[in-house]
Amino acid sequence: MSDITARGAQITQARNLVTSIPGPRSQELMARKRQAVSSAIGTTMPVFAEAAFGGVIVDVDGNTLIDLGSGIAVTGVGNAAPRVVEAVTAQVNAFTHTCFMVTPYDGYVAVAEKLNALTPGTFEKRSALFNSGSEAVENAVKIARSYTKKNAVVAFDHAYHGRTNLTLALTAKNLPYKSGFGPFASEIYRAPMSYPFRDGLSGPEAAARAISQIEKQVGAENLAAIIIEPIQGEGGFIVPAEGFLNALVDWARANNVVFIADEVQTGFARTGAMFASEHFGIEPDLVVTAKGIAGGLPLSAVTGRAELMDAPQTGGLGGTYGGNPLACAAALATIETYEAEDLAAEARRIESQIREAFTAAQREDARIGDIRGHGAMMAIEFINPETGDPDGALTGKIAAAAHAQGVIVLTCGTYGNIIRFLPPLTIGADLLNEGLSVVLNALAAA
Ligand SMILES: *Cc1c(COP(=O)(O)O)cnc(C)c1O
Repeated sequence: MSDITARGAQITQARNLVTSIPGPRSQELMARKRQAVSSAIGTTMPVFAEAAFGGVIVDVDGNTLIDLGSGIAVTGVGNAAPRVVEAVTAQVNAFTHTCFMVTPYDGYVAVAEKLNALTPGTFEKRSALFNSGSEAVENAVKIARSYTKKNAVVAFDHAYHGRTNLTLALTAKNLPYKSGFGPFASEIYRAPMSYPFRDGLSGPEAAARAISQIEKQVGAENLAAIIIEPIQGEGGFIVPAEGFLNALVDWARANNVVFIADEVQTGFARTGAMFASEHFGIEPDLVVTAKGIAGGLPLSAVTGRAELMDAPQTGGLGGTYGGNPLACAAALATIETYEAEDLAAEARRIESQIREAFTAAQREDARIGDIRGHGAMMAIEFINPETGDPDGALTGKIAAAAHAQGVIVLTCGTYGNIIRFLPPLTIGADLLNEGLSVVLNALAAA
């Protein structure tokens, strides 16, 4: 192991607060941020990072925070994971960029081979690499349109697919994502999602409702693709009822409609399986990946059926940085880490810890409406016990109190009433339990 790795490993995996949160140096940096950075870029916590390793982030005031967000589901292998640091260090010393479209290199091909092997389905596959989740989603839509020679795309209620113009059209939520940024890309339609906690429908019932709406409002003859997160992320970690996704896949296949699974947040062992599609037994035509793919380096991919992926003209897909060599080296090391350390099993262990802690609390606290998710992608939905209405204000209070106690937690959901847990899969049981008890104490005090 290199010196760099050894330095990270010296960061103790425990919460330790030496100032109030935010400390004085973070406050100074926030003041500089306000002067230098667009105010449209928000921050969850006004705390600046100085170092991070595994499941903790050390801030510029010397506080050690528990990371239950993984930089939004990115550092699944833990921050500054040793294999990733080694691989990127070696690559940066070899070369930093050639552009794969100009002078290709083997790391890109090796990542494509890995993705083709790991994603669901034994059919022949190809991959293409990009930089961000949004960019990969856009390219999946381009591929589906090129293959089917149709235009329309269906996305779902509560969907989040990114912030570029086409992906904003696919994203459901107005504030903060869409407001003021239109007009959005055309030929995008929205269908109702399966949301068992709120709609009470079975999977087949919810699918019939969605398909009927699609047939009436769009028509299969115009529809290039259905895009869906197998478990929705920003929209509230909504797990569709059993059979919902299967019925949609069957309908899509029968109607020459490409089924795109957006696994940007759910991919790479996060949900206790390598891909969330596996929980439902579906084989998407195209799988979009990003976040957890490369241990924190920017990389994304579209992987899918060879005949679809080869449909666009040569030169039709690409980009200057897509599949950058550093990101590819990081991805290979990251995927090796998921496999060698069986991090999918760790995700399942994390799920049982979270379920245990919150199921016990729910018996005494009716404000905990729903506990759901798979693996290390778990959500707690907070409600007003009298009405069942979403309680976003309570959720905001809990998150703020946890932040003040040095625990990084994220909220999500169309109604902002969900605390979501996305810890690194390498987080130790004790560190996780400590973070969870801070959140539970914040709930009790709120
Ligand atoms: C984060 C996310 C995206 C967008 O990824 P970026 O890298 O932020 O562009 C798309 N889809 C899902 C499901 C996501 O969670």
